Amino acid sequence: MGFSRQKERFHSVNFQQGTGMTQLAYSYKINPLQPPAAELRRLRALQLTRLNATIAHARAHSRFYQQHLAGVAPNGLASLEDLPTLPLMDAGVFNHGLEALLCVSPAEVSRIVTLETSGATGEPKRVAFTAADQQATRDYFAAGMRMLADAGEAIAVLYPCERPGGLGALLLEACEQMGARPLAIGIPNSFAALAASLGREQARGLVGFPQHVFSFARWCEYNRIKLKISGVLLSADNVAATLRNEIARIWNCDVFEHFGMTESGYGGAVDCPHHQGLHVRESDLIVEVIDPLSGQPRASGQWGELVISTLGREAMPLLRYRTGDHSRLLTGTCPCGSPLKRISSVRPRAAEQIIAGGQTYSMAQLEESLFALPGVLDFKAELDDRASELLITVQLLGDPEPKQESSEQCSPKPDERRDQQLQRQPDQSIQKPLLQLPQWPGTRTIIEYSPEFRPYYPAKRTITRLPGVRTASPSSQ
Ligand SMILES: [Zn+2]
Repeated sequence: MGFSRQKERFHSVNFQQGTGMTQLAYSYKINPLQPPAAELRRLRALQLTRLNATIAHARAHSRFYQQHLAGVAPNGLASLEDLPTLPLMDAGVFNHGLEALLCVSPAEVSRIVTLETSGATGEPKRVAFTAADQQATRDYFAAGMRMLADAGEAIAVLYPCERPGGLGALLLEACEQMGARPLAIGIPNSFAALAASLGREQARGLVGFPQHVFSFARWCEYNRIKLKISGVLLSADNVAATLRNEIARIWNCDVFEHFGMTESGYGGAVDCPHHQGLHVRESDLIVEVIDPLSGQPRASGQWGELVISTLGREAMPLLRYRTGDHSRLLTGTCPCGSPLKRISSVRPRAAEQIIAGGQTYSMAQLEESLFALPGVLDFKAELDDRASELLITVQLLGDPEPKQESSEQCSPKPDERRDQQLQRQPDQSIQKPLLQLPQWPGTRTIIEYSPEFRPYYPAKRTITRLPGVRTASPSSQ
């Protein structure tokens, strides 16, 4: 896939979305030949109009927002610079219940997503969308899918696809919308079957959880299976640089990183072919970075908590919503020339760090180190509270005793099997990570070999706690 063609696509597609209440963004399409400064003025004017329309909509239809936005002038904000005068809101807002936040009649809601919160006191978050809200997401995804493949080509979606209106289903529909052939794969449970399917369909694009795509790429290389993947989009979890570079190397393809959350309407920010930060979905979102303690805005370049405001969201608009995630706004202009703001790769929140053996560990940090080791297919990390020990189980490619051929199993006919072996003799030279496993304080490592992939995490990766006897609190019971 030609670089310049991808670049042009990125310029021309990211402003087409924006359905919803105002329909304003539909008419807005960026011209890559115009200087970014002129585009920027158009974009900011559009954002202010949509922001004020959202404020008016929220205030008119929600009990919560009537009170929450009581201090805002009837006509809304005079400029985008006034956005920090709106009060912040956080996940606690969902404790008010769906009805208090809903800005349309229940009949107009086409999907409600329920998210469990990690906090002990938090109610599950329930986020509602109308059909137009979902279409806005589809439009944004369709723009992203154009970076992976052309119309007529196949794009494989490695998320669960069964639930209507869910992430996987919206991605499939977005592929159709941009003219590609969507392949509903789901979470892969057999890499051999997946490789066969992608080969048969000549898939060019791949969308999925970072570690599933990574493991699959490594498995393909080890088994000498060649696929013609031209573009990969990784989303819904942290994207370790080592993981991303390895996918790009194995398939010689472009690897894009996407950040989004249910509250942002799934889509949030995605990088361009220059890979210098993630361009924000600015037609549908305004992004700020604040000091997590004081709530004051942080200057560009400074890390802080990411805050989002939705533009044109009908069912459940969010205004200055604290995501709990950390990032920073990047300064300067991207080499692609896009006027869209960029953020750094989003860092996991502090709550996702654990302490073992006096050391602080995060999944993101473990991923950077362990995925860099050759032959590592996957790993899981479990905290043993009693021992204050982090148990790391590493899945390695191949067979612990590759010389022993198992001849007993039900297998293909002898001539078929010989063909398969001739075509894809596993590359044993790739399997040599044992000597390099890091020795971290407070950790214990277990090695598991796997000729076939067994995903440790069906979704987002986190450090889990081992079930077991917890230290009893003397005051309880
Ligand atoms: Zn760019």
